[in-house]
Amino acid sequence: MKKPAFPTAALLLITVTGCGDVLLGLADMLDGLAGGLRTVGGCLTPVEYTDLSEVLVVAPPAEWRAGQAILTDAAQPAVEAFFASRLEADVAPRWYQNERLFRLACPPPDRAAELEFLDASVDWAHVYDDEGFEIASLRSCDFDGRLRGVVLPPSGAAHLVIRLVLIRPGGSGRELARLAEVPAEEAGLPRTQHVVLNMGGAAGIRFRAGTLVPTNVSPVTDPVLREALVRAVAEIYAPYDLRVYTEADPSPPEPYSVVHIGTAEPPLGYNGLSEWVDGLNRQPDDIAIVDLGSRHLGLAGLFGPEALGTAAGLVAAHEVGHLLGLWHSLNTDDLMTGVDCEGAGLDLELLLARRFRPAALESTFAADRYHALGRQDPESVLLRVLGPTAQP
Ligand SMILES: [Zn+2]
Repeated sequence: MKKPAFPTAALLLITVTGCGDVLLGLADMLDGLAGGLRTVGGCLTPVEYTDLSEVLVVAPPAEWRAGQAILTDAAQPAVEAFFASRLEADVAPRWYQNERLFRLACPPPDRAAELEFLDASVDWAHVYDDEGFEIASLRSCDFDGRLRGVVLPPSGAAHLVIRLVLIRPGGSGRELARLAEVPAEEAGLPRTQHVVLNMGGAAGIRFRAGTLVPTNVSPVTDPVLREALVRAVAEIYAPYDLRVYTEADPSPPEPYSVVHIGTAEPPLGYNGLSEWVDGLNRQPDDIAIVDLGSRHLGLAGLFGPEALGTAAGLVAAHEVGHLLGLWHSLNTDDLMTGVDCEGAGLDLELLLARRFRPAALESTFAADRYHALGRQDPESVLLRVLGPTAQP
């Protein structure tokens, strides 16, 4: 199915683009205003997509030798043939010729695997278990551009598939990455995370990756809005060891993440944005923004501060998901959905019912069609990264 284009009848239907998706159709909203403020619309029909996850089955084997495995950029004809057959004309070959996949046995349960990047052509690494669920996704470089190693926590799976996405097509056989068995404790996970919901305003917010013009957000003073927002975030993360604060609380111990929440100037163009997708929560002091002035949150505000606070809290929870390593999924009931929707006629309560749910992961193979590669179980990722709620 083609991804829906931005509607030309924009006055009648407004779709979400980008992150933090609360979706409101103006026509339905007006219906709702007439009909008791319940229906605000939205477009959350399930999407159709091409599932590429079977590529994980044709991943060529890699061997452990003396506790190490070397992953090279040697050509992978089976992988390339798979993509060529499934993607057909959707995607130019250059979009998949830079994919390298490797299937190998997991280290024993009491051991972890260190993944060390050896070549600057590696952009991302994705690690999947036997069932195609993503265990971790890792940008090879942090904000300073240096290649790094990272320790993958024990997964409990029998096999791993490592997927390396290269900046440019390879084929010369050079070494891209090295896996080594290490003690499980070296992963340092799970680990408590502290998040401050800053509703006190902020000036000149920047993302370290340079993907945001310096942005100001206004203070949020309405106590009903503030309370609903904090409650929504806290409820989503209640099962996990993530502590939620506001700027009105004493500062938590460093490091902590900050979500700046308010009306953004200049406008974000999205409901929310995160600094990056932080696989395995390597950077626990990263930041995100939620723009209460986005079209969709602005419409939610017409239903009162409680509705706006709850909707904005779910956007904040989505952005925090990115800061903990979660990607966009193709399940429109999943809080991590990144789907631009079409259609109309869903009520606000259904929109606000989005929660973390296992879902197909949205791949970025093409701009105008949906493709999935692998699946994401947010609960399992968050338990691996954060651990369960600490008992008092
Ligand atoms: Zn997002």
